[in-house]
Amino acid sequence: MRRAYSATPRPRGGAGRSEPEQLGFEGMPERLFVCTPSKLGSYEDCPRRYRYSYVDRPTPPKGPPWAHNSLGASVHTALRNWFALPVDRRRPEALPTLLKGTWVREGYRDEAQERLAFRRALEWLESYVETLDPATEPLGVERVVAVKTSVLAFNGRADRIDSRPGPDGPELAIVDYKTGRTGLDSDDARGSQALALYAYAAERVFRRPCRTVELHHLPSGTVAAHEHTPESLARQVARAEDTARDIVAAERSVAEGGDPDEAFPTSPGPICTWCDFRKSCPAGAEAPTKEPWAAVERVLTPAVDDA
Ligand code: SF4
Repeated sequence: MRRAYSATPRPRGGAGRSEPEQLGFEGMPERLFVCTPSKLGSYEDCPRRYRYSYVDRPTPPKGPPWAHNSLGASVHTALRNWFALPVDRRRPEALPTLLKGTWVREGYRDEAQERLAFRRALEWLESYVETLDPATEPLGVERVVAVKTSVLAFNGRADRIDSRPGPDGPELAIVDYKTGRTGLDSDDARGSQALALYAYAAERVFRRPCRTVELHHLPSGTVAAHEHTPESLARQVARAEDTARDIVAAERSVAEGGDPDEAFPTSPGPICTWCDFRKSCPAGAEAPTKEPWAAVERVLTPAVDDA
């Protein structure tokens, strides 16, 4: 029986760094790498950011909260609570109360901007629920799905899992809500490792085909969709396993006394501007600075030129 390998931090005598659990001795089965899509994505985006998030303890100080994260969380939770209502109360009139109840205030420039964001979010939600049949129950809302492979013990929380009629019976679809800028297309849905892993896991948890993945962009009311095949899902799983192996190797190197800066190199790029750890990272200091509300401002007033 496999045991789970976890990079979850565990204090080690004040050494200031979490210690990965020992992998098995030679001949013993290797432990599985416990992960979520955000953990894998963090390493793929930048190994150093992964180290700051999951390895170094105490965690290096983060920058202030981002308004776009507050906006996204508010809308996601309002939609979750929409589906928690009895069917006869799933009406647009319920939305202001739902959104007020879940509203996250952090990161906005001032009250005027926050009020505008609230009004805009409410409009998005009103338009979006018009496209939903209140009587249709999703199979899961913010539902955790988990699966094991020979390398991974994966778990993740899908925004929504729908059950839809297919040619040979019910099929599942993974729905992910987006509240950022426009421009998402089917390539984004196809390339999303998180969506593919949710689909792979949901298919096994519910024992029904799950090949459809969709990005629902609330500000524009558009849906970017992709139909996976068993082969394309397998490729995404293999990619995730490769990432997991790289992470385990890097953590092992540090545990054996290697230089953590070499094991987890920086990967500077545009993401540095939005990185929570930019103040702790030598590469982040070079990146252009943005105010915590900059991304929200672009969504609320799309004419604002990012340049
Ligand atoms: S600032 Fe850039 S290079 Fe540094 S950890 Fe963040 S994403 Fe990586």
